[in-house]
Amino acid sequence: MRSQDYDRLYLSPPHLGRHELNYVHKAFEDNWVAPAGPNLAGFEADICAAVGVPYCVALSSGTAAIHLGLILLGVGPGDEVLCPSFTFVATANPVVYLGATPVFIDSEADTWNLCPERLREAILDRIGKGKKPKALIVVHLYGMPAKLPEILALAQEFDIPVLEDAAEALGSEWQQQPLGGFGRVGVFSFNGNKILTTSGGGALVTYDRALAERARFLATQAKDDAPYYQHSQLGYNYRLSNILAGIGRGQMELLEERVKRRRQIFEWYREHLAGLPGLVVAPAAEPAGSRSNRWLTTILLSPEDADTPPTATPETLRQHLETRNIESRPLWKPLHLQPLFADAPVYGGAVCADLFARGLCLPSGTAMGEGELRRVREALVEALG
Ligand SMILES: *Cc1c(COP(=O)(O)O)cnc(C)c1O
Repeated sequence: MRSQDYDRLYLSPPHLGRHELNYVHKAFEDNWVAPAGPNLAGFEADICAAVGVPYCVALSSGTAAIHLGLILLGVGPGDEVLCPSFTFVATANPVVYLGATPVFIDSEADTWNLCPERLREAILDRIGKGKKPKALIVVHLYGMPAKLPEILALAQEFDIPVLEDAAEALGSEWQQQPLGGFGRVGVFSFNGNKILTTSGGGALVTYDRALAERARFLATQAKDDAPYYQHSQLGYNYRLSNILAGIGRGQMELLEERVKRRRQIFEWYREHLAGLPGLVVAPAAEPAGSRSNRWLTTILLSPEDADTPPTATPETLRQHLETRNIESRPLWKPLHLQPLFADAPVYGGAVCADLFARGLCLPSGTAMGEGELRRVREALVEALG
C-alpha cells in the first residue's frame, strides 16, 4: 500500500486500532519476539472464544492452515477433494501441494457458494467412477454463509470430512453460531486485506484435541520427542510469530465493531446505489438465521436489463473508478476457468462464470467514512450515465 497516496480509496486496506501496539511492545519488553509465547497463546484463546471452539493453532497464513487441515483429514497423493470453483486460488492450491486433485463444484445463485445439488451430483459421479472424495472444502465467499444444512447433510450421508475455509468469514454466523466451527477443521486468514489482520497470518480451529496437537506438531517441523533433532514425519515451518500474534490480539478486540461497520457499509451501498440503472448490490439476502460479515460489498450488472447502458461492463466501471483513484476488483475468477486447473473435473460452472462476468467488488474498508462512500457512488453514477 502506497502510504503517501492519501487520496486513493483501497478495496480493503488494513485497519488498525489502538491496542495492537501494546501487545507488540510487551513482546519487545519481555524479549519474547520468539519463539511461541504469551501473545500466541492469547491470540489463540481469543479466536477460540470468538468462534466457540476449544482448540486453535495460529499459523503463518490461511493457506498454511488449509494445507495442514487437509493433511489432518488424510488427504494424500491421488486423492480427490471437493471444492467450490468460485473462490480464491488459495482454497485449492494446498490440494495440489499434496498430490491430490480438486474436483470443482458450481455455485448456487442465492449465496454464491457451493451448490448442494451440483455437490450431490459430483459425489455420486465420483463414487460411480470408483473414487470416493477424500474431503470436502466449504467456503463462505465474501463472508456470506454457504447453505450449511444441505451441505453438511450430504457430507454426513456420504461420510466425507469437511474443511471449512472461513478465511473471509470471521464474525459471520449461521443460527447464531460463528462460522469456522462447522467442519472437522476450520480455517481463518489474517492477511492484510481481510476483516482483521496480523499483516499476514492464519489459524486452524477444531473440536478435536488430537487434531490440534498434530497441527501444532506439523507446523513446527514435526520434531519427535527426543533430546536431539529427530524426525519421523514430514513437517513444516508454519507457526505465527509472537510479534504478529500481538497485533492479532489487539485486532480481535475489534471484531464485533468491524463486522458492524462492514455491514453498515453494505447497507449504505444498497440504499444509495438503489436507483442506478442495471446495477444491484448482491448477494442481497442472508439465509434465514444467518449473518454475513459483509467482508466486501459486491455489485452485479444486469446486461439483459434494458436500463443498463450497453457499454457498461464490470471492466469499464473498474477503469472509470480507477480514473477517480478508487480501487475496485472483479469477483474471484472461477477456478475451473483458470489455466492452472484446466484438467480438473468440474460439475456445472455456468452460475459462477456468469457471476464473474457481471460482478465487481467495491471499496469496503472499515475506516471509510460517508464522504468516501459518496465518492464511490459519484464515480459509479458518472460511469452509468
Ligand atoms: C484469503 C483467503 C485464503 C488464504 O489466506 P492467506 O492468509 O492469504 O494465505 C484462503 N481462502 C480464501 C477464500 C481466502 O479469501
